[in-house]
Amino acid sequence: MAIDESVRQHKYELSEDQMPTTWYNIIADLPTPPPPPLHPGTLEPAGPDDLAPLFPAALIGQEVSAERYIEIPGAVLDVYRQWRPSPLYRAHRLERALGTPARIYYKYEGVSPAGSHKPNTAVPQAYYNAADGITKLTTETGAGQWGTALAFAGALFGIDVEVWQVAASYDQKPYRRLMMEVFGATVHRSPSRATAAGRALLADNPDHTGSLGIAISEAVEVAASDPATRYALGSVLNHVLLHQTVIGEEALLQLALAGDTPDLIVGCTGGGSNFGGLAFPFLREKLAGRIAPQILAVEPASCPSLTRGKYAYDFGDTAGMTPLLKMHTLGHTFVPDPIHAGGLRYHGMSPLISHVYEQGHLDAVAIPQTECFAAAVQFARTEGIVPAPEPTHALAAAIREAQRCKETGEEKVILTALCGHGHLDLAAYDAYLSGAMVDEAVSDERFSAALADIPAVPA
Ligand SMILES: *Cc1c(COP(=O)(O)O)cnc(C)c1O
Repeated sequence: MAIDESVRQHKYELSEDQMPTTWYNIIADLPTPPPPPLHPGTLEPAGPDDLAPLFPAALIGQEVSAERYIEIPGAVLDVYRQWRPSPLYRAHRLERALGTPARIYYKYEGVSPAGSHKPNTAVPQAYYNAADGITKLTTETGAGQWGTALAFAGALFGIDVEVWQVAASYDQKPYRRLMMEVFGATVHRSPSRATAAGRALLADNPDHTGSLGIAISEAVEVAASDPATRYALGSVLNHVLLHQTVIGEEALLQLALAGDTPDLIVGCTGGGSNFGGLAFPFLREKLAGRIAPQILAVEPASCPSLTRGKYAYDFGDTAGMTPLLKMHTLGHTFVPDPIHAGGLRYHGMSPLISHVYEQGHLDAVAIPQTECFAAAVQFARTEGIVPAPEPTHALAAAIREAQRCKETGEEKVILTALCGHGHLDLAAYDAYLSGAMVDEAVSDERFSAALADIPAVPA
């Protein structure tokens, strides 16, 4: 093979003093705010008092804030500096392999201690809880990334972390559980016998593969029953997306260093946090008329909340313990197939992403997992990074677009979030490489059964 010796810059780094010191709140720039969460009993907007058993006042304040910029506490910046600003790469070798005139950039969040974007919010969540005197946090985890991030952040701020890990990924990914335990967390296989919600499900089906919605029910049940314990959510809520905007703020500066403006911003969506974190600062620029990129969310074909769900008030968890959230949902009783991208197996979607989608600022597409892993393997063999199963969805969409550019000759600038590495997800690659991975179509009956369980909320 001929060796290409053309030297081109492929890594765009910021200095530490260029790290953002505020989080960006897109609500300040939207024509209307997203509909509020509702108390499931009264169907009135859920107030701070309804959320206080679960979250500290500072996070509730951020959840309902309309301020455009919110200052990042110094103690949080100190931890961020361990891995932030994260690098932006230009995928020259992938472009060459595809023979595309498109320019592909990826913002890499796998450099964090947990290996994903999740510490961007785990650290402030642990910080605000510790500042409030909280000594224990409960949470759910799908792929194990969020549980790892919160276990790490809890260790830094002296908080015990108890995690309910979805059974399918608990079994597929023993190393994620071990990493959480190294950081000092206690991990349950969900559904578990430790909660009423878990025991009820196991009584029906002892082999339940679990879901994020079920694991949330278990973690919320335990937090709600103990005043010294609170709950932390790794995605979906406004304050989580807020914390993740450091990704997009940095990427804006880095793309400017590269001398490019994006034509397509593409990210994977489970609950919407890495995608919102990358896209919202660019959407601010788009709403102000300075740039005009297409913004595209990519979800798994087995759990397509934006493309096949309903925009309705629904529970955030399976047992119906959370406030009702207005979001794109497949129904809180929907149990997605145990695909390898465990972080994307959530029945709902961030209310903020759902709202922005309804307003026409985003597009969405669903892609089956084998195409995603084909893209991931091509990416690994050209760029040298093994992606987590979740961002393989964004890579597959980016590659589709780059191939289209090859046909049309368009020199599009594509930006994606490579939101985590897959070093602890190699069993998924084993399934792909050995040919055992399949794409199972979800029947219309399964979708309609769960959609019928969405609670009726008068408009
Ligand atoms: C948790 C996770 C996701 C899904 O969550 P979002 O809130 O949609 O970002 C995606 N990728 C990785 C690597 C994750 O850890």
